[in-house]
Amino acid sequence: MTMTVLVNAGPWLPVPPPGYGGIENVLAALVPELRRRGVRVVLATVGSSTLPVDDRVAVFPDGRFADLQRPYNRVMGVAAAHLHRVVRELRRRDDVVLVHDHQEAFGPTVLSTLGRDCPPVLHTLHWDLRKHPELYGDIDGGGSLFVNGVSFAQLTTAPPALRALSVGHVHLSTPLAVDAERRPGVAKGDHLVLMGRVTRYKGQAVAARMAHRTGAEVVLAGPVGPHHRPEELAGPAVDEDNPDVRYFREEVEPLIDGRRVRWVGTVAGEERDNLVATARASLVPIDWEEPGGTAVVESLALGTPVVGFRRGCLPELVEHGRTGLLVDPGDEDALATAAGEATALSPDDCRREAARRFTPSRMADRYLRLYEKVLARSGRPLRVHDAARNGA
Ligand code: UDP
Repeated sequence: MTMTVLVNAGPWLPVPPPGYGGIENVLAALVPELRRRGVRVVLATVGSSTLPVDDRVAVFPDGRFADLQRPYNRVMGVAAAHLHRVVRELRRRDDVVLVHDHQEAFGPTVLSTLGRDCPPVLHTLHWDLRKHPELYGDIDGGGSLFVNGVSFAQLTTAPPALRALSVGHVHLSTPLAVDAERRPGVAKGDHLVLMGRVTRYKGQAVAARMAHRTGAEVVLAGPVGPHHRPEELAGPAVDEDNPDVRYFREEVEPLIDGRRVRWVGTVAGEERDNLVATARASLVPIDWEEPGGTAVVESLALGTPVVGFRRGCLPELVEHGRTGLLVDPGDEDALATAAGEATALSPDDCRREAARRFTPSRMADRYLRLYEKVLARSGRPLRVHDAARNGA
């Protein structure tokens, strides 16, 4: 018997993503590990994905990330078309024993209503669970759809109906954590880095204010809405009313002076890794309950301590005083002090912790256990560990 899992990555970005992409980076880490354990993976994604898999399903030739910033009546068809294709694929084939879904809101809504046309589903919640209260507050998995969080803290924010479907949480991982403790340290530069979408939740304005107050050098990397390069926002943009563009214009851009505060746009590959590895610390001054924090585990794997506000997943991922410094949410003075003190923390400790806790292999083992739980709870048990081990 072959153990085949359909992993639905959604239609937004290729896997792996060319730069920004939290979910897609995590799937690029998970899928090879599942396949190494003998699981056959059908990836529902976009045509430009390059991750090796056993089979692929795609409607769109390339990622539709930019559509996410468009009005609902323009974007809903993208999400629906992708999922419609997934459903048809599930009806067409009889080898898929489980769907591992990562498509927000549409995924659980549609997949839980398919009855026997759909194998059991594990839907990973990558989002703020206080969103969509009408959906999450009254969700019905139909006995075959279950969910997992990406941190324990995230699940504590889930309404009871959603929590009842939970089979646990699995922290995010990064290939950078593999053998991280054996990588030689790199020389640290003078800068602090904030790696992430430019949006109020991620706190770029807090970081920029801190730079001006303390004289620290802060590099901001990541897209502003659909804009990846500073040139794209050099003049007026067509989407000035986009909330992230507005946040950038009103609160971040006025603080960018090219010296203390720089916005370098989206960085990728070695450039991204170097920027993080040479930073004195990664700043995570979040203004929300960050659910998973890919950039956090990447930073530790690259030997860079994390300095941020003590909320969301941060206390689970960062050990205060050893792999980072966490201060009271909103306390910008304490954040500035902590950023200064972070140089005393050991990059080796950060790398060791990442190698111990945040490898793709560890994540894949945990997901296989959750697959087993989901199959058992849905009344279609299959010992996935055995199936995977036998290449069965
Ligand atoms: N990222 C990147 N280049 C950038 C900014 C971000 O490659 O310029 C990556 C980052 O390394 C991480 C992901 O995008 O892998 C962001 O994921 P995270 O979970 O931190 O944030 P979110 O999914 O909430 O945006």
